Order: sequence, then structure tokens, then C-alpha cells
Amino acid sequence: MTRKKIMDIKSLTIAQAKKDLQEKKYSSVELTTAYLDRIEKLNPTLNAFITVSKAEALEQAKKADEQFSNLTIEQLSNYPLLGIPIALKDIYSTIGIRTTAGSTVLENYVPPFDATVVKKLKDAGTIIIGKTNLDAWAHGSSGENSEFGPTKNPWNTAYVPGGSSSGSAVAVAADFALAASGTDTGGSIRLPASFTNTVGLKPTYGRVSRAGIISMSSSMDTIGHFTKTVEDSALYLSVSAGQDPMDATTPDQPVPDYLKNLTKGVKGLKIGIPLEFNPFEDEPTRQANKMKMKEALNVLSKLGAEMVEISLPHTEYAIAVYYIIQPSEVSSNLARFDGIRFGNDRSSFGEEAKRRIMLGTYTLSAGYYDAYYKKAMKVRTLIKKDFDEAFKKVDAIIAPVSPTPPWKLGEKNDDPLAMYLSDIYTVTANLSGNPGLAVPIGFANELPVGMQIIGPHFSEELLFQIGHAYEQETKWFEKRPNI
Ligand code: GLN
Repeated sequence: MTRKKIMDIKSLTIAQAKKDLQEKKYSSVELTTAYLDRIEKLNPTLNAFITVSKAEALEQAKKADEQFSNLTIEQLSNYPLLGIPIALKDIYSTIGIRTTAGSTVLENYVPPFDATVVKKLKDAGTIIIGKTNLDAWAHGSSGENSEFGPTKNPWNTAYVPGGSSSGSAVAVAADFALAASGTDTGGSIRLPASFTNTVGLKPTYGRVSRAGIISMSSSMDTIGHFTKTVEDSALYLSVSAGQDPMDATTPDQPVPDYLKNLTKGVKGLKIGIPLEFNPFEDEPTRQANKMKMKEALNVLSKLGAEMVEISLPHTEYAIAVYYIIQPSEVSSNLARFDGIRFGNDRSSFGEEAKRRIMLGTYTLSAGYYDAYYKKAMKVRTLIKKDFDEAFKKVDAIIAPVSPTPPWKLGEKNDDPLAMYLSDIYTVTANLSGNPGLAVPIGFANELPVGMQIIGPHFSEELLFQIGHAYEQETKWFEKRPNI
């Protein structure tokens, strides 16, 4: 068999590539080149990358190969992701590689430092293959707010891949990298994961450092990633998680061995099904999603989990609360880019950023602060309490990710409210800080569908345990888009 054949990147996972690289079945340079070739061929169709860092990637891969040759097995264990090509959402500061946040405001910005998590990923030996496309400033659910053009869904290029981490989801779905980092403030990892048949983790708020990642809504921003499998997601979090003196929201909480309980199964676990997360009115497009959720719950029951109906009574306020708190924080965070003190106006921002700056400035202004921001903060506490109460009764919660399947490019562009409503099942976990793992549950009309597993704070280990059990039974990740 030729080396190229051994290195069948469509079926490759991080776990497998780690083994192959160590056994020298192929080199990191060969692996990285295979991904770069694929990007060169297919990125013009999918637009997943804003910047491809070819020269840097090849240099890093060469260094990784030298380490594979020169280090002992024991020394190599200090580099858990050595030689593994990954991609980063273009909102992660990367020293020497431009970082745009999807906006032309930062078109030529080259950061003089790496985000903490970028440093950690580099120290673990990863190869950074490029910076992925996103809704500008991470505002959006479809990827269409990017000022570098929309990313296309590899399952059908007429459809959106979900956003705002659209390029990172597609980088993994289309086999442009073995994993990709993203951010999730209101669903921006879980939604695109569910639209692209990938695994997406939104960790607990504070689990992964936000230092050096361009802020959207600081009290909800979480730093997660996309992978093909749950095991890979656990491997990646083992590297990215942990306390950081540069980010005061990261607690002194030990990083557990995320692989330890991976194969423990779900027997005896209590899974909560929230009554209020019943998205599927009788519209025909939603029926297919509903069927998929039912099938997924049946699989978990069959594997021995106990299904328990629970209530999260304040869910109905989640979108209203999120779309008050989030723009309030956006209006403050974007002030550092508007240049108003230097005589600029805000015309350099796109429509969506301007809309959020205006909304946020309004909800924070004297006279309206109490009526909107303060009230929203109070309801946020109630939403968090809903989860705390639920987790007294169940180990984890299973819920849909999106109320609808992926939509056609352009379909919701003129209706911001319709776009906001697609976040209805994801924003609650951001308001409460709980972790959520999106896993593929099949296809409806040939487009991917996902579910999310939500757990108590810092229960990522348990989410991986449940996700892995489901995934091993169904193996949806083995289906790859025909591109
Ligand atoms: N779609 C949500 C929004 O537009 C989520 C964004 C995010 O998670 N970055 O705000």
C-alpha cells in the first residue's frame, strides 16, 4: 500500500493519526501536505479559510518530524498532539499570522502575541494550518455575516454550515484539518457542529482561557472545538483546558483525565428531557429533526440510560435575555475597535455589528438600564437555577441543538429576528455557564442533524462518556460529505 493510501484522511481521527505518526507510517510533513493540497483544491468552493498558513505549517511539521526522530517515547508524551494539523477560528490571536475576526476592520491586523490557548496547542505539538472564516466578530448563526464571504456547507453547498464558527466546522467536516478551535457565546460551536456532522464542544464557562481571543460577550464567551469523534474532543480539551493567570475567570480546578471514563457507557445514568425544549411545531421541515431526536433517545435507552422528563421553566425568556445581555457586552467590547476617539465614525462596521452596538448602548443607557439590562440579569439567574434544580434529579440533559435543519444561503438574511431564533436551544447553556457537547444524530433530507448533551459545571468527562457511548453505537461520523 502506498503511504498516501495508508493516510486516508477521510477516515483519519486524531487518535489514529497520533498512533500512525508515532509508528512512522507517514510523517507530519506528509500529513500536513495532504491537508494543504485538499485545502488548495476545495477551499475555493467552500471558503472555510480566511488565511492558510502554509509556510508556517510546513515548518512546524518539519520540527515535529525531527522531534519524532530524536525524542524518547517518554519525552514524546509531553507533546500529546505532536504533528497533528489543526485550524483556528480567525478570532484567536496568533503571533505573526493576521487575525481578522471576520471583519475588514482588522483586515491587516497581525497580532504581536498568541492567545493562551494557541500557546498551549503549539506547546502540545499541533500544526496550525490556517485561520477559519466566521461571522464578523462572531455575530451570527449561519456564517453569512462574514465580510470575507460566506462559508458553504460541504453536504450541500447551497446551504449554510451554521455559525458563527462556520469555517472551523467546515474545516473538520470537509477534512481540511483533524480538529479546529471555535468560540461559543450563544451556540456558535454547537450549531455549526450539528449542521455539518461534526462533534462540537462548548466547555464550562472558565474551563478554557479566553485570554487573547477577541471578545464578543465576555460573561458568556467560551472557547471550544470541533472534531470528528468524541474521543478526539476529549484529547483536545486535555490540552486546551486549565487555569490561566491571564484570565481571572479560569478557576483553580484540576484538569481531569478526560479519557478515563470514555468507555464506561450510559447504563444507569439518568438523562433529563426538558419539556420546554420541544421545538418541533408541526412544520414539515421540523418533522424530520423531531424523528431524529426520537431515534437518538431510543438508542440511549437501549444502551441502558433512564429517561426522565424535567422542566426548565424559564427557557421561554432565554432568547430575550440573551439578546439584551449579549449586545450590552458587545457594545462595550467593540468600543475598542471603533476608533471614535481618533475621529472615525462607525461606518467601518457591518450591519450586524452596528445593530448590536445600538441595541447594547440603548439597553445600558441611563433610564433603560434597570428596565432591560438589570431585569435580564435577574432572569439569567433564574435560568441558571433551572439547571441547578434539574441536575439534582438527573445526571445530564439531552436537547436538540437547532429548531430547524440547515437553511439555504440567503434565506434568513433579511430577517435578523428569524436568525436569532435559531439560537433558542443553545443560549441557555451560555447564560448559565454549563457545558454542552453536540454530537451528530443522523441526516434529514440528506443534511446533518445534531443533539446536545448538557451537564453540570465542569462535567465534561461525563459528557464525553455519554457522547462516546452514543457515537460508538451509531457511528455517524463515518459518513463523510461527497466533496
Ligand atoms: N448566534 C449567536 C449570536 O449571533 C451566537 C454567537 C456566538 O456564539 N458567537 O449571537
